[in-house]
Amino acid sequence: MVTWLSARGLAHTYRDGPRALDGVDFSLSQGELVVVIGPNGSGKSTLMKLVAGLIPIQSGSVQLLDRPLAQWSDRERARRMAVVPQFLPALPDLRVSDFVLGGRYAHLSGWRQATHQDHRVVSQSLERCDALDIAARSMNEISGGQRQRVLFARALAEEADLLLVDEPTNSLDPEHQVRVFALIAELVRAGRAAMVITHDLNLASQFATRICLLSKGRVAADGPVGHVLRRELLEPVYGEHLYYGSFDDGRGGGAPFVLPWLDPKRPTSR
Ligand code: ADP
Ligand code: MG
Repeated sequence: MVTWLSARGLAHTYRDGPRALDGVDFSLSQGELVVVIGPNGSGKSTLMKLVAGLIPIQSGSVQLLDRPLAQWSDRERARRMAVVPQFLPALPDLRVSDFVLGGRYAHLSGWRQATHQDHRVVSQSLERCDALDIAARSMNEISGGQRQRVLFARALAEEADLLLVDEPTNSLDPEHQVRVFALIAELVRAGRAAMVITHDLNLASQFATRICLLSKGRVAADGPVGHVLRRELLEPVYGEHLYYGSFDDGRGGGAPFVLPWLDPKRPTSR
């Protein structure tokens, strides 16, 4: 399997802030959908920002394909990886379709006008995110969940090999949560790779080819779903308010699920 993205020994301390990462190795290969999980503040977004080249590397290294990340120009990098950050600074006052067209930037050379093909990719991306009906609306006049889907559509429009997405299902209803992950999985099966941050352990269970668990800026586990989604590994990191189960496939091999539950030993309902 070809490794597309490889990080070694990443450490990061924010100015006047805590040590957010403390010696993290991370890799992403073609055909992988790696889900990164971990408690609030465990360093997930910092890791994604570092491997995406959004913040400078303080210590450690990131390699994208055959070269260190720093040797890639912004445009070349954007052509290879599409990044959806957890937070956007401020939303531009643009029509939804024009915002998504911005995702074609990597494909537009300085003077070139958007072509028919660019507009077609924009429509297709919006359609795949179930957002074509809001294409003409303003970015500032759509719901939080719709905005989330539009952000993802913009990343799709980049048609990059690598997708890096930070909590893409926040504020999405259950149906759209599943759809976003199914779409990412479909792209990965078609030959791309994805790094997805989420708190939803059950979406991770369904769709991840590998799960990376961060805890206090370090990798607490990195492996297949069945290896990571176990009490022995999760409880020390998340605490005891989780219920562990697995679907019955008749052969003891059903997918695990993990639910937030106040008292998992006495799951009474009121
Ligand atoms: P996660 O995405 O896992 O919730 P982050 O990577 O965002 O965690 O943050 C890791 C740690 O770094 C946290 O303690 C957070 O408060 C801190 N941090 C994140 N971004 C900044 C920033 N821009 N300036 C200072 N501290 C930050
Ligand atoms: Mg985060």
